[in-house]
Amino acid sequence: MKALILQTTGAPPTRNLADIPAPVALRGEAVIRVRACGVNRLDLWAASGSLPVRVTTPLVQGCEIAGDILHVPSGSSDWTVGDRVAVQSNLFCGRCEFCLRGEESTCLDSILLGVQRNGGFAEQVAVPISSLVRLPDDVSFDSSAALTLAGSTAVHMLTKRATVVPGTTVLVIAAASGVGSAAIQIARHLGARVITTGSTATKRQLGLTLGAEAAVDSSEPGWSKEVRRLTGKRGVDLIVEHVGGDVLLECFHCLARGGTIVTCGATAGKTVPLDLWPMFVKEQKLVGSYGRTRADMELTLKLASTGHLRPVIDRTYPLDEAADAFERLSRREALGKLVIRIP
Ligand SMILES: [Zn+2]
Repeated sequence: MKALILQTTGAPPTRNLADIPAPVALRGEAVIRVRACGVNRLDLWAASGSLPVRVTTPLVQGCEIAGDILHVPSGSSDWTVGDRVAVQSNLFCGRCEFCLRGEESTCLDSILLGVQRNGGFAEQVAVPISSLVRLPDDVSFDSSAALTLAGSTAVHMLTKRATVVPGTTVLVIAAASGVGSAAIQIARHLGARVITTGSTATKRQLGLTLGAEAAVDSSEPGWSKEVRRLTGKRGVDLIVEHVGGDVLLECFHCLARGGTIVTCGATAGKTVPLDLWPMFVKEQKLVGSYGRTRADMELTLKLASTGHLRPVIDRTYPLDEAADAFERLSRREALGKLVIRIP
């Protein structure tokens, strides 16, 4: 089968398209014919070698997989060949105390698909049956591949790690990102008032189109002042943050008393000097969020099916042009998701 192989990590990493043997399903696994696979910053980060997780090459990357079942062990009552599926990319053990509580995102033995084992930038991939989530008939492979990683991350942040009720004011960082574009729509669906950010007029316009009532120019130094102005100096109740570094610190300047920042990424910096005094005086919360659970995946796909969550797809690429997709993502030019299509 054809697969895009990450040969070496580094700056730049090396990749090549190659013919490799098709994967063989081990016990408890199914083989998926990949139809589409989303491209994520996680792929860039892993390929650069800077992810705080060991990446062993050669590796087939790709963690946002949609496809249909090509092979499933006989006796598997839930699945049959041809079923349309999405794959939960944070593979979980199913046995630890967290998995037994349905909190697979904090599994003690989790493995990142496409980072720690072969993923979906290939014609086929073998995955544990426990990671399969049924794809509703009216959700396309492209939509699934554009939503199930970033979209379900946003679902997890807004429904598991924070509480949104009608009237909650939510600031969503980076409207044009995968997490941002999904978070705006989900927060609006939950009844929130949404403010977002974008570094270009086009990105800010996308945020408004998705349902934000205001979009702040994040390329302006001290952009948090504009958020404070928009909220009558009060600040927002909740911030969906996924960038880290100085962006996370700036968020505290426009967070209301008692407010919460939920964060799930640190591409702009993993270490920050946090001023604790205003944080505890204002009784603010900084909450971590990691990955998703199967329930989050199912809710994401249900929201997509009912039209409450629409993927923002910037471009689709065939597998042999994946390098262009990585380049576009790394230059931060994409307006929404990049998806690799495998015919
Ligand atoms: Zn577990």
